Amino acid sequence: MLNIALFGPPGAGKGTQAQNIIEKYNLFYISTGEILRREIQRETELGLKAQNIISSGGLVSDEIIVQIIENTITQNPKANGFLFDGFPRTYIQAYILEGLMIKLNTKLNLLINLETPESVSLQRLLLRGKSSGRMDDNSQVIKHRLEEYRNKTVPVIDFYKNKGVYKAVDGSQTIKNVQIQLEELIKAEQKNILYNVVLMGYPGSGRGSQGIKLAKKYGLEYIATGQMLDQEIKKDSQLGKQIKILYENGELVPDEIVVKLIEKKISENQNKKGFVFKGFPRTLVQSYILDGLLQKFNSGISKIILLNVPNLKLIDRLAKRSKTDRCMPYDTDTSKIVKRFQEHEEKTLPVIRKYLEYSIFSEIDGDANQDEVFENLEKVIDL
Ligand code: AMP
Repeated sequence: MLNIALFGPPGAGKGTQAQNIIEKYNLFYISTGEILRREIQRETELGLKAQNIISSGGLVSDEIIVQIIENTITQNPKANGFLFDGFPRTYIQAYILEGLMIKLNTKLNLLINLETPESVSLQRLLLRGKSSGRMDDNSQVIKHRLEEYRNKTVPVIDFYKNKGVYKAVDGSQTIKNVQIQLEELIKAEQKNILYNVVLMGYPGSGRGSQGIKLAKKYGLEYIATGQMLDQEIKKDSQLGKQIKILYENGELVPDEIVVKLIEKKISENQNKKGFVFKGFPRTLVQSYILDGLLQKFNSGISKIILLNVPNLKLIDRLAKRSKTDRCMPYDTDTSKIVKRFQEHEEKTLPVIRKYLEYSIFSEIDGDANQDEVFENLEKVIDL
């Protein structure tokens, strides 16, 4: 997810620049001012409450703002990211935004200030007032809006400077120049964002072979937890010894061990553009663990891709694999294959059901030749 807030005094050009950004980066636009004006037009209870405040150039209460932001965000769970215009406008609203981002398991990537002198703002708003029909685009109200900005909104800058997401652009330049600089800032930020793909599907659906190919093509690190556990056993490491005993007793490897391994792998590969996860998360608990792990690295899941293959095809594939050198210890025995399918259905299908609701979720027909499947995967990856 990419979340950006456009900041600056009234007349800085936030609305104008927003149009280009939302199209280019496919973000969901949230302009609190626009939402409030719509409420006023519809004469809703909220609109009636806000009307007098807006027409005098004051700021609407944080209580009203939190309601409209929360409604808009929760009504759009599939958004790729949000572009905020006119929010946060107070120090309290900055905290509100933090809370909402945590709830969405994401964060604000950039707060970009379109720095604009008051004289320029005044001039632009007076010009706009000739055609906008906005009740607050007249000189007396504009003066009060600028005053509110100075007193209540400017302190928000410090909040984000401290968090390291604050950027500034000279908003008095031409629309085109501001646009170019905004795009540069966003491009630079996109480079910092880890790209994390989760591959889901039954055993034999091709997650492994496709995952390795994906990782190679896009400069990602491939993380296959099953394989990682086997490697520890082969290395005969301390952890490997523990895992071996668990395997021998037919017990599951506890999440603590898997988490440690993944965390180590992520820390060791910070030079990579991101990660491809195969075989994790396997349970609902692990889906929360993955969110937490990625959050620790200031990141989140970018894409979840489910490879669909009919069950009979899966069995056929696994049987064929058992006759090759790619044969896994659990491929040889029918009862083990059945057990893995059951595990998938009991524990992993609930994770897939949860992910179905996410905007970053895609399904791909995995019942095609490897190259075709890979081409379809590439279409989903937006790197
Ligand atoms: P704008 O369209 O962003 O210029 O906003 C117009 C008016 O709506 C402002 O002058 C405020 O009265 C109100 N408003 C918009 N966003 C907020 C906000 N985040 N907090 C408080 N008041 C707001």
